[in-house]
Amino acid sequence: MNVEIMTLAGTKRSLDKMAVDDLRSRMRGQVLTAADAGYDAARRIWNAMIDKRPALIARCEGAADVGEAVRFAGAHELLVSVRGGGHNVAGTAVCDGGLMIDLSLMKGIRVDPVARTAWAQPGLLWQDFDHETQAYGLATTGGVVGETGIAGLTLGGGVGWLVRKHGLTCDNLLAVDVVTADGQLRHASPEANQDLFWALRGGGGNFGVVTAFHYQLHEVSTILGGLVIHPRTAARDVIRFHRDFVTSAPEELTSYVGLLTAPDGNPVVALASCYSGDLQEGERVLRPLREFGAPLVDGIQAMPYAGMQGLFGPAFPWGNRNYWKSSYFRELPDAAIDAVVEHANRSQSPLSAVIIEYYGGAASRVAVDATAFSHREASFNILFVGQWSDAAEDSIHIGWVRNCWEAAKPWASGAVYMNALSGDEGPQVVRDAYGANYSRLAALKAQLDPKNLFRMNQNITPST
Ligand SMILES: Cc1cc2nc3c(=O)[nH]c(=O)nc-3n(C[C@H](O)[C@H](O)[C@H](O)COP(=O)(O)OP(=O)(O)OC[C@H]3O[C@@H](n4cnc5c(N)ncnc54)[C@H](O)[C@@H]3O)c2cc1C
Repeated sequence: MNVEIMTLAGTKRSLDKMAVDDLRSRMRGQVLTAADAGYDAARRIWNAMIDKRPALIARCEGAADVGEAVRFAGAHELLVSVRGGGHNVAGTAVCDGGLMIDLSLMKGIRVDPVARTAWAQPGLLWQDFDHETQAYGLATTGGVVGETGIAGLTLGGGVGWLVRKHGLTCDNLLAVDVVTADGQLRHASPEANQDLFWALRGGGGNFGVVTAFHYQLHEVSTILGGLVIHPRTAARDVIRFHRDFVTSAPEELTSYVGLLTAPDGNPVVALASCYSGDLQEGERVLRPLREFGAPLVDGIQAMPYAGMQGLFGPAFPWGNRNYWKSSYFRELPDAAIDAVVEHANRSQSPLSAVIIEYYGGAASRVAVDATAFSHREASFNILFVGQWSDAAEDSIHIGWVRNCWEAAKPWASGAVYMNALSGDEGPQVVRDAYGANYSRLAALKAQLDPKNLFRMNQNITPST
């Protein structure tokens, strides 16, 4: 049977069954249509708000399959989406009517313990990656939720518990293998295809499909970390204290603060901290944070790095509905904290949260134009995380996120983290996400992907 497809031009047309069979014959992996078993499972992604039906899903088993899929899409002018871990809130991994290039089966990794590097395929999740690198007492900056994919996170920048000590995930990238829009398999590094390598460190999925990432690793084994939890009534004081504490803390410490609901249903304010360095020194550094106020729980302890990486996973399961907004804030004056707390307290979902992160350190010592990721200033990032399960409540929780966002906006810096966008923010916010590097990115997009084949992302339109 022929397949109805969506073209790049946004029109529908019929694709000959023989063309689909030809793609099947060229790939090691499967090509699924809606008629095939496994289609619904393969199109499902983390955010249950997104329910899209690709015409074809290419379940790639390796770089050669990715090349076949990209050339097929180019030849038939098909709408394309690329799925790594499938964890992006905006849901750009899946498209309606087009070809979904599914990388989730590509989970190979090889750690070189002597060089302290790893080659990793794009279907890996951070929990898989950490499992393998921790076997050698090594790690690199990665997402704080184990089920997040390494691919989308790395290409958009990448922050996590090691960001202040070791920089962004994309700062730890040594090289990549990538299939560009012309279907060519290329290697990009500081020595080869330098412009492409520059663009892939922060430019997201705009420049090709990465089939392997080469990372720098660091010695990381036991860390001092965990949660210190206070009642929500202490939120204003705790966040003020935390603001002053983190901005003068050593780079071994990365610490976030969250307004969330404890498993017993009580609203709390939680400090989540990870000290990666000498443990005795960590005890000294973290003492003021542990002694502040009257915490309900002090869960700070020495633990394996993988334990810290596993802390937040249960709070962000697959299958919930999610709507998020976020922005960077250069400073966090008391009035901004008051506004955030007041609006956070109006949440009607125990699954929702407001998270205030602070970076700087090694990430801020990289020049703004050294990588496509441009937001290098030491700053706070506030995430308004709407999460719920009942579709009938969409407007309530989306409304809460938008209200929080409006209340905090007067203090926002104007810069946003590309990986945390929900997808309905509009073109100016996408430009703000790439910041000062947007025009160079748009020129490179015109050169490398003039037809904008890779458009299901926070899209950089080719400059004219
Ligand atoms: C619960 C949760 C926690 C998070 N925590 C963090 C965190 O700690 N730090 C952080 O920095 N971010 C975090 N994020 C944001 C995260 O970085 C993005 O959601 C990221 O896109 C996830 O990557 P993925 O591969 O799972 O995405 P997918 O949904 O699979 O892909 C998203 C987009 O990335 C691009 N893409 C994916 N793979 C490839 C590839 N191989 N080649 C080219 N393009 C590709 C495509 O454009 C795709 O549309 C979190 C998100 C969630 C939902």
